[in-house]
Amino acid sequence: MFSNNRFANAPFDLKVRDPLKIVFYRLSIQSPRDIEREIAMTIFNLQERVAFITGGNGGIGLGMAKGLAAAGASIVIAGRDKTKGQSALSELRLLGAQAEFVDLDVLKEASCHQAVQDAVERFGRLDILVNNAGTTVRKQPEDLTAQDWHLVMDTNLTSAFLCSQAVYPHMVRAGGGKIINIGSMMYVFASSYATPYAASKGGIVQLARSMAVAWAKDNIQVNAILPGWVDTELTRKARVQVQGLHEKVLERTPAQRWGDPNDFAGIAVFLAAPASNFITGAAIAVDGGYSVQA
Ligand code: NDP
Repeated sequence: MFSNNRFANAPFDLKVRDPLKIVFYRLSIQSPRDIEREIAMTIFNLQERVAFITGGNGGIGLGMAKGLAAAGASIVIAGRDKTKGQSALSELRLLGAQAEFVDLDVLKEASCHQAVQDAVERFGRLDILVNNAGTTVRKQPEDLTAQDWHLVMDTNLTSAFLCSQAVYPHMVRAGGGKIINIGSMMYVFASSYATPYAASKGGIVQLARSMAVAWAKDNIQVNAILPGWVDTELTRKARVQVQGLHEKVLERTPAQRWGDPNDFAGIAVFLAAPASNFITGAAIAVDGGYSVQA
């Protein structure tokens, strides 16, 4: 990416290959117009990176996939629903991205490992994992069955552990990687109809922190995103099941609107790019101010 002779006088060792040191040195020797281009091309540049997004065939996952694609990453949409998957691929390819669909049922350990293997076979590497697949069962705690509990915990939490474990050796081989876990406001707040969901979202943030500590030595950064209320298939059902939810969300959210899946494009790029190389174990709210409203 960088030609060595341009850095003959650079005050650092190029062998360290720290992209930020390199970009700051380049900025110091360039014109303002070049600087703008340079920033876009380096600290947020995802060219030659491959991103694997669980449940990325719609909703927030697809919003993030579009951001990653726009920054130059190749995209693997890993999911169950092939029809939704094909339509996601069309959207991503319109952005000029290389994009492929792989079958994944996050409830099955073997499927998590196979999907990662399929992705690596297609693209030769894997640099970014977004643990996005999620579901919920909206019942009072006393009415939940053990099956309801396991469905939500396994889809939202165990899957993130299994997929992270599956990508780990590939990230180590690539010299590092980025893992992004999708949490929720339910990591901080609670609701009577979201017992396993809130438990799983608390868990996925702690999982991110634990993996961040364990894998920092491998140059793998692991962070969590905490979405506010976002208009997707998941919440369209909630609006029907929970009376007055729509109005409550508008009233409570300082931005006075529901989030849109595309609102997650920017944070995905930031957490997947060299720009966030010293950020790990963080949980970042993307919620229109919901979590800071008194
Ligand atoms: P969607 O329903 O659009 O997305 C959920 C995705 O998870 C779907 O693509 C779904 O695939 C996939 N999925 C579910 N079960 C499995 C499985 N067993 N194997 C593979 N994929 C599976 O909703 P959102 O975009 O809203 O949700 C994305 C993430 O964001 C979830 O983790 C959710 O908890 C989280 N979130 C959402 C919020 C919101 O307000 N919308 C707020 C906070 C967090 P399929 O189409 O095949 O069912």
